[in-house]
Amino acid sequence: MTLQTIVQRYRHRFIEQFGHALSRDQWSALNAIEGCRQGPYGEMAWTCQRCSHNTHTPRSCGHRACNLCQDQSTQAWLQRQEQKRLPVNYYMVTFTLPKELRGVVRQYRSTCYDLLMRCAAQTLKTFAKNDSTLGGELGFCAVLHTHTRRLDYHPHVHIVVPGGAVNKARRQWCKVRGQYLFNGRALAKAFRGAFLKALFQAGITPGRTPKKWVAQCKRVGKGTEALRYLARYLYRGVISNTNILSDDGCNVTFRYRDANTHQWKTRTVTGEQFIVLILQHCLPKGFRRARDYGYLHGNAKAVMHILQWVLKVQRPAPPTKKTASLPCPHCRSPMRVTGIYPRKAQPG
Ligand SMILES: [Zn+2]
Ligand SMILES: [Zn+2]
Ligand SMILES: [Zn+2]
Repeated sequence: MTLQTIVQRYRHRFIEQFGHALSRDQWSALNAIEGCRQGPYGEMAWTCQRCSHNTHTPRSCGHRACNLCQDQSTQAWLQRQEQKRLPVNYYMVTFTLPKELRGVVRQYRSTCYDLLMRCAAQTLKTFAKNDSTLGGELGFCAVLHTHTRRLDYHPHVHIVVPGGAVNKARRQWCKVRGQYLFNGRALAKAFRGAFLKALFQAGITPGRTPKKWVAQCKRVGKGTEALRYLARYLYRGVISNTNILSDDGCNVTFRYRDANTHQWKTRTVTGEQFIVLILQHCLPKGFRRARDYGYLHGNAKAVMHILQWVLKVQRPAPPTKKTASLPCPHCRSPMRVTGIYPRKAQPG
């Protein structure tokens, strides 16, 4: 059972019911998932390095909503984050939009996702600047999620923060003392104010929203697990095929791990509804869902090198770019790409 087979099976029923409401981005995600490695994206020609055996394979779609693609991008992102690790405690801050806003956010996805990320980042920067111990600039990595583990619509942003700030005026590195970065309630309050103001300035009227919003701030050890968790959903869609358990021609059952109890749970929905659940998490074209800030930003490499030198960090070797490889069906030696054809090569 794969996402692709489900899309192929339910496509017509899905389009009949929901096609009218699909955005251009969602159409392109639907087509990509359906056609990945099936021919519409062309073929690659391979030649064995040892026995000169030739073969063709269909190309993949490269779409970030597709769960067959982009494994390399995920690995590359994680390796880039590894290059910037610091020997300090890490924190994960999560800003969530209240459910009352979800209608407006769906309607203006591009603007609202961008404001969510910007306001969350700005809130953290302000807190770090005003903090009596830190009093400086943080570095952090923010990733936008729009899903819960049950695949419902739930826009939020996770931010992984190393526990220390750079005070440029004093040329000092200030480490977070103790277990605790910032107070979640205070963050939520400041974020609420910033987000509503930004919405208003963008000409979007949010309607009634609750007084209390949610922001969580927790310690996540050395940050490794937190970064891996974020990497998982960056480029490979919101569900992996191993978590799709069954499809009986009407209903699809998938499993997910409950965020609180960490127990596996299952959810069953109609095939059409399953595609709705997947496509609602499709991001606007070109939207950058992972962003680095402060001393983790690509422009701050010099600061990062100084920090790693001061904190005596052994930087991991820079990642080497993997070239595509396929084992030869005759001699198992690696085959190499010798040609790329935009459309399926005709036999003969
Ligand atoms: Zn061979
Ligand atoms: Zn694909
Ligand atoms: Zn999340």
